Amino acid sequence: MRYCSTRGDAPVLDFDDTLLTGLAEDGGLYLPEAWPRFDPDTLRGLAGLPYPELAARIMRPFVVGSAVEERFELLVAEAYAGFEHAAVTPLRQLDQRLWLLELFHGPTLAFKDVALQLLGLLFDAVLSARGQRLTIVGATSGDTGSAAIEACRDRANVEIFMLHPKGRTSEVQRRQMTTVAADNVHNVAIEGSFDDCQDLVKALFGDRAFRAEYRLSAVNSINWARVMAQIVYYFAAGLALGGGTRPLSFVVPTGNFGNVFAGYAAKRMGLPVERLIVASNANDILARFFESGELAMEGVVPTLSPSMDIQVSSNFERLLFEAADRDPGLVRDLLGRFRADRRIDTGRQLWQAIRADFQGFRLDDAGTLEEMALRRRESGELLDPHSAVGTAAARHLEGGLDRAVPLVALGTAHPAKFPDAVERATGERPPLPERLADLYERPERYETLPAEAEALKAHIRRRSALTGAAA
Ligand SMILES: *Cc1c(COP(=O)(O)O)cnc(C)c1O
Repeated sequence: MRYCSTRGDAPVLDFDDTLLTGLAEDGGLYLPEAWPRFDPDTLRGLAGLPYPELAARIMRPFVVGSAVEERFELLVAEAYAGFEHAAVTPLRQLDQRLWLLELFHGPTLAFKDVALQLLGLLFDAVLSARGQRLTIVGATSGDTGSAAIEACRDRANVEIFMLHPKGRTSEVQRRQMTTVAADNVHNVAIEGSFDDCQDLVKALFGDRAFRAEYRLSAVNSINWARVMAQIVYYFAAGLALGGGTRPLSFVVPTGNFGNVFAGYAAKRMGLPVERLIVASNANDILARFFESGELAMEGVVPTLSPSMDIQVSSNFERLLFEAADRDPGLVRDLLGRFRADRRIDTGRQLWQAIRADFQGFRLDDAGTLEEMALRRRESGELLDPHSAVGTAAARHLEGGLDRAVPLVALGTAHPAKFPDAVERATGERPPLPERLADLYERPERYETLPAEAEALKAHIRRRSALTGAAA
């Protein structure tokens, strides 16, 4: 399998290089040259498989030619062995036609574990096959940092430096990062904001000599392999609810558009997906787009669902590429104009093509709290604020959807990850699951640095196992 850039100006790569490269050289995102297809008979044959076996079957076409192809089944099994539920991504019924797909049974209690647990193993295995090592540098406002750290901890060929804005993440989020005792994990509290952290990461990547010396890499959501791993649970839900042949629809709480794009990919691969509903909080650029065909940037507003506080959803570029029949010139033109004018009209044809599969929904914080309280009363379920934006979409759009088609809302975080919001909505404070129950007693390890690139580079030189080694 080979991968091409959405902007058409970067080398075509195999799976391993796509994995290690992340962002394409031309600024685009990688996609497989063709979508593998599963016909209805093949899908019926996959029903009932344990999640890791299903995952290996669905993802196998994407890793053909990889240095780790032979060991792929084993790596996938290892990635999901640490999940707390035998089904890995269990379905729970919320009402007559709505199911919650619980994606938060991994080590950091959010859906990002489903992809990152596998990604860490794939990185390590590919690097080991090549006799290489590398350094992951990332900035986090909370969720992504802990999932990336759990994915990379104790991996022999990876060092990870994770920056968070000092005093500006929640205590649970900080402790999930800083209590990981592994020699290759380095937490840094930056005296500044999340934007300062991101600027520092950009500054490091912009220093070509430093970037080459430490072989810097990223595990952000533009990495194709993250999308790939997320395709699997759409199939798992479709197989469980309809044997893979009965249509179903999904509601996806959306930030960077990575998760919902994986649902679109599943549809292209043969899963009968009727609608994909993109649920946003007050940061509603996508909801406005689905209504008007215009993509218009506004400032980011902080909400109760911080992992969706995003204005520019980077993975949307992948959808534009597909909707434009894979015309990279059109994608380059649209994104160039968007950067310059902060708004674009995508044109009727593209907009209609996208609306054939997707629709939007937006909900403010008051509505989110109300939804959390309602679900608690109606079905006993405690929802985190991100998942609640999705289940609210199911409630509000119900009239316009086909009643015979089951609806699956993606549960993206465990309620205990956002205890303050849950308590505000329901009066109950969800306890941490047992394996994290002593999180507040575990010792923390992090360094504090000023928001200066030179200070960060010096820190990495002091701490990295790659310093002085032939990386
Ligand atoms: C990251 C995240 C999202 C958004 O997912 P995208 O793939 O960025 O659209 C939603 N909910 C939670 C809890 C998250 O951590």
